[in-house]
Amino acid sequence: MIDLVARQIQILRAIIEEFISTAKPVGSDTIDKKFNIGVSPATIRNEMVYLTKQGYLQKSHISAGRIPTPLALRLYVNELMKEKVIFIPHASLIEYVGLDNIEKFKVPYYGNKHILRFESDRNIERKWLKNAGLKVPKLFESAKDIDRAVIVKFHGAKGGKGYFLAKNEKDFKEKIKHHKGEKDYVMQEYIVGVPMFIHYFYSPLNDELEVMGFDKRYESNVDSLGRVSARDQIALPKVDPSYVIVGNIPIVVRESYLPRIIGMGENVIRESKKLVKGGLWGPFCLETIMTPEGDIYVFEISARIVAGTNPYIHGSPYTWLRYNEPMSTGRRIAREIKNAIKKKQLTMILG
Ligand code: AMP
Repeated sequence: MIDLVARQIQILRAIIEEFISTAKPVGSDTIDKKFNIGVSPATIRNEMVYLTKQGYLQKSHISAGRIPTPLALRLYVNELMKEKVIFIPHASLIEYVGLDNIEKFKVPYYGNKHILRFESDRNIERKWLKNAGLKVPKLFESAKDIDRAVIVKFHGAKGGKGYFLAKNEKDFKEKIKHHKGEKDYVMQEYIVGVPMFIHYFYSPLNDELEVMGFDKRYESNVDSLGRVSARDQIALPKVDPSYVIVGNIPIVVRESYLPRIIGMGENVIRESKKLVKGGLWGPFCLETIMTPEGDIYVFEISARIVAGTNPYIHGSPYTWLRYNEPMSTGRRIAREIKNAIKKKQLTMILG
């Protein structure tokens, strides 16, 4: 931060921290109210103009606030090194900062940065899951091939909005008309079953895989349409099912599934080591659909902590049996770092 004085750094830091926690453009009033900067709002405003000119902030299109640029975020992360910080990745980080910038972070980073690329590349992700012997829903390259119900999923930060089901090419063509210009989507076999998200933690220090818990997504409005009988749904002609997540429901899985679930996680870890040096470690999540036939289809993997671990701030039944003390995924990560420091193996878990 050669070109900034202490006060500007303080304001920039406040803006970045506010942005990271709210994901919204930040205005000078918020900084004045929430942070103890010790200068007038007018001075904060002037400094924000200066920081914008220097390329650390950019104007937002949707409000009067500003958002940090990748340059500012990189600076922030690199500065943190001096404070003995270890960065813990989460989904929003990747969305906001981008993989390229994350790979350039100089701050110590928990987990294997390079695995994120594999997780976010659909084709490699699919190959990874298949090589691990997992059942994955069939993908359709062309609408002509649709021979069963498919779910059409759009990519990016849409979070399940606009997803639709189609039963054949004609149905697909009819429905895709409402998504003009959208090119980035997949057509995946629709699996009827329970969406079950499996939360694992793998420690390379003792080469052990733990099941941290499970959650079921509460999605709007696909999960609420069941509250309306088919007869009454006719009264709601404009309501299409969407898969926007609104919450996470803790769930305990049928016990006889557990050995298979543990085996699935172990296979994912084994295969990850073939993709990139060191493979995957730390928390990860398999997003599955469990069918009445007992099949477990995996439709996605998240190679980091996910929001579905939030119901377990005090731990899940699984972590309780293992640790006999509250063990959230966050605390598990902290414990891993402590153990690594004790064993003088910190480099093993930083990537
Ligand atoms: P995604 O954006 O891939 O995380 O999917 C969002 C939601 O869509 C999931 O939580 C499921 O409820 C549903 N979903 C996604 N893929 C499938 C599938 N292949 N079969 C059935 N439901 C799916």
